[in-house]
Amino acid sequence: MKKHLIRLFTISAVISLIAAFVLSMPLVQRYNLLQTQMQLKSILLVLSVQGDSLLENPDDFSDRCAQALSGSGLDIRITILDQDGRVMADSGPDATLGQSHSDRPEVQKALSSGWGFDTRKSESTNITYSYAAYALDGIVYRAAMPLTSVWHSALLLSLYACIGLLAGVVIALILSRIWAARSVKPVADLTKIANQVAAGDFSQRARQEGDLSELSTALNSVTQELSDTSDELRVSNERLRAILQGLDEGVLSIEDKKITLLTDRATRLLGPVPEGVDTLPGCGANYLYLQQAMDEAIQTGGETTKEITLSAPVPCVLQVYAAKLGYAPKSALAVVRDVTKLHQLEEMRREFVANVTHELKTPLTSIRGYVELLQDDKRDAQTRAKFYEIIGIEADRLQRLIDDLLELSQIENSQRQSPETKGTNLSKTACDVLEQLSLIAKEHQVTLYSDLAPGLIIQADPDRIVQLFTNLIQNAIKYNRPGGSVTISTQAIRNMAVIKVEDTGLGIPPESLPRIFERFYRVDKGRSRELGGTGLGLSIVKHIVQLYGGDISVDSVVEKGTVFQVRFPLAHEL
Ligand code: ADP
Repeated sequence: MKKHLIRLFTISAVISLIAAFVLSMPLVQRYNLLQTQMQLKSILLVLSVQGDSLLENPDDFSDRCAQALSGSGLDIRITILDQDGRVMADSGPDATLGQSHSDRPEVQKALSSGWGFDTRKSESTNITYSYAAYALDGIVYRAAMPLTSVWHSALLLSLYACIGLLAGVVIALILSRIWAARSVKPVADLTKIANQVAAGDFSQRARQEGDLSELSTALNSVTQELSDTSDELRVSNERLRAILQGLDEGVLSIEDKKITLLTDRATRLLGPVPEGVDTLPGCGANYLYLQQAMDEAIQTGGETTKEITLSAPVPCVLQVYAAKLGYAPKSALAVVRDVTKLHQLEEMRREFVANVTHELKTPLTSIRGYVELLQDDKRDAQTRAKFYEIIGIEADRLQRLIDDLLELSQIENSQRQSPETKGTNLSKTACDVLEQLSLIAKEHQVTLYSDLAPGLIIQADPDRIVQLFTNLIQNAIKYNRPGGSVTISTQAIRNMAVIKVEDTGLGIPPESLPRIFERFYRVDKGRSRELGGTGLGLSIVKHIVQLYGGDISVDSVVEKGTVFQVRFPLAHEL
């Protein structure tokens, strides 16, 4: 715009100067001509006064006149003519004495009206002259001046005008630059601010003054509004990003295969994205599953839910929900949820139902079988008594199974709510249990030892701690051999109460160790059943330990023995 203004200003200045020059040239020429004619007229008037001496010797007179005038620097030709227009005297180099000049327009006009003027090229000298003629008392005085000087002065004038024109153009250029810079500056300032706003920088404000103050005010309010909107957008974007990052589900969005959003959770589930890669196909095999789901959603324009099983980075089952996004034609969103635990729980539930059914069915089938046998009248009293005894044993097994299942379910319920607790003395509880189980130990020819630190109090339900000791000590007796021993010890280590149940029994094979706390898991099914086990004892123990914030570990050597160690946080009152 500035350049345009300078150009415009310069062109108009040049045009006006040329116009002034061109228009003034004829006027100057005309003025010069008039000046010449006035000069000639004055000369002729002076000559006419000398008329008498002129007539005595006209030739000499005209020569002297011409000499005198040329001495003054004026190149003037004087001609004296008689009343018929014949040349009586001539100061010119090519004297035309005796010739008739009556046909010359200036002579004719002078003879008729006293004065005559003309401008023309002389036939003899081929120079353009300005002629003036004056007729007085039968004599015509004529003076002629070459117009070369007039043209010279006009040329000189042109030269000056050209120099002036050039100087004018230069001055106009400088002035136009200064003026343009001044008049364009507010617009340039506004343009700069508008460009900064377009680039996302809302910190600058336009000065509200001058002709453009209204525009500046409007630009400032637009900038402010844009800045506010951009702030709001940034805050809500950050909030949304934080929410998405905090989700347990991984979130990913694409636009024409290009990743536009990828949360940390998604990369943790699907694996890291190689540096510099921003398209889904370049992210690795796991991401291709997502690509397929999203492609499907884009094609159908709806939603897709899929389940994928991955072996890396962590073996897991993922549920992928993909939906097409409305704002761009090839954009889609995928939400990835880790359903591995859900799958495991579902599997466990199925297994549990199958196990419970099986465990319940076994004694029930046995009971039904013996009841049918009893219906046969031919059975003698001794056999019948035996059958009744077996039915009693199976019914007890059923009872124990149901009791254990109920116990487990109650503990699980307590885990969901906060369990009721009170200060429970570990050593005293252990002593009570040992006393209760001393008879069974005797039956199994197992000696019970104890090393109990007094005064160890934990926050728990005492009945559940009784249950814990019973299950652990009973197992240590059951899976022992005659002559073996069981040692129960309690001690305080830092702020924890440590319980150890140690036996010199059969031990547990290493491959079974990780599974012994599972429901219905038994190392030796036959032996467990024979000993009246339900396969739920250790599972109950583990749940009780978890209920009161403790932990349990097992260490076992086959044919040597097993050590169970349970740790509970000590109550504060200790
Ligand atoms: P069960 O009712 O069969 O005893 P538990 O859950 O109490 O069920 O124990 C699970 C399995 O762990 C048992 O069947 C047994 O094989 C093994 N077990 C538990 N305690 C001991 C131990 N002290 N010594 C050897 N094996 C044990």
